[in-house]
Amino acid sequence: MSKKFAFHTHSNFCDGKNSLEEMVLAAIDKGLTHYGFSSHAPVPFENRFAIKQECVGEYLQECNRLKQKYEGKIKLFVAMEFDYITDIMEDINAQAEAYNLDYFIASVHMVKAKGAEKMWFIDGGKQEVYDQQLESVFDGDIRKGVETFFCQTNAMIKDAKPNVVGHLDKIKMHNKERYFKQTDAWYEDLMMTTLQTIKSTYGTICEINTRGLYKGRCDDYFPSRQWIKRMAQMQIPVTISTDCHRVEEIDCLFEPTCDMLRSVGYNEIWYFDKHWQTTKI
Ligand SMILES: [Zn+2]
Ligand SMILES: [Zn+2]
Repeated sequence: MSKKFAFHTHSNFCDGKNSLEEMVLAAIDKGLTHYGFSSHAPVPFENRFAIKQECVGEYLQECNRLKQKYEGKIKLFVAMEFDYITDIMEDINAQAEAYNLDYFIASVHMVKAKGAEKMWFIDGGKQEVYDQQLESVFDGDIRKGVETFFCQTNAMIKDAKPNVVGHLDKIKMHNKERYFKQTDAWYEDLMMTTLQTIKSTYGTICEINTRGLYKGRCDDYFPSRQWIKRMAQMQIPVTISTDCHRVEEIDCLFEPTCDMLRSVGYNEIWYFDKHWQTTKI
């Protein structure tokens, strides 16, 4: 494959460890042809993971400076990963347009029912947080929590029509087959409805996210191989994302993921270069 890319990437503007320029230099070093900056977009509450609202201008400026500086060495693009949160972050399409981004990724990290006050944080490195908040936000009712997660995900896809859906089934990461199994009929129904939603949303691509695997937080991709097989049958467009937060992670599992995709029937994946298009794998 002649193209190697990373379109879901973080930096020290959000919760990443390296500067935008360090990430670019490492990407060039690793032979990437295309690289997109996608730090976490600001959210309207106190937090430690997203770009601060007052730093957005500086972020965009720095991305554009690097774009010009490294022209001819690597193709750079400016994006963000938006949180879609019920009642709180629903107009992300408008925000992405206002920032004049090349593309945007949308993800659910915080699960919130309509009108509810509290949110269930399903990401991060700590299983205790997942367990405790499942208890405090959904009274320990896993099915209610997971249904809310998928309901929020479907609304995100339909309302925001993101270019890329981020780590689709991250809800399973801290579950570790404790509260539910991915083979449970009710879970499978939710997953299939969401895959249908992606399939019927023109222009939306599902990423195959390698982060859980290379961080050792999970024994599968987001989404899991069993869903990737179904996605291949349904011909859902996919791309590969490392969701890197430091230079060492930029291309983690990129090649093995191409092999895996080929083995389930994919012969092309999507990448961005002025617009989203396919390349053979
Ligand atoms: Zn994310
Ligand atoms: Zn991310």
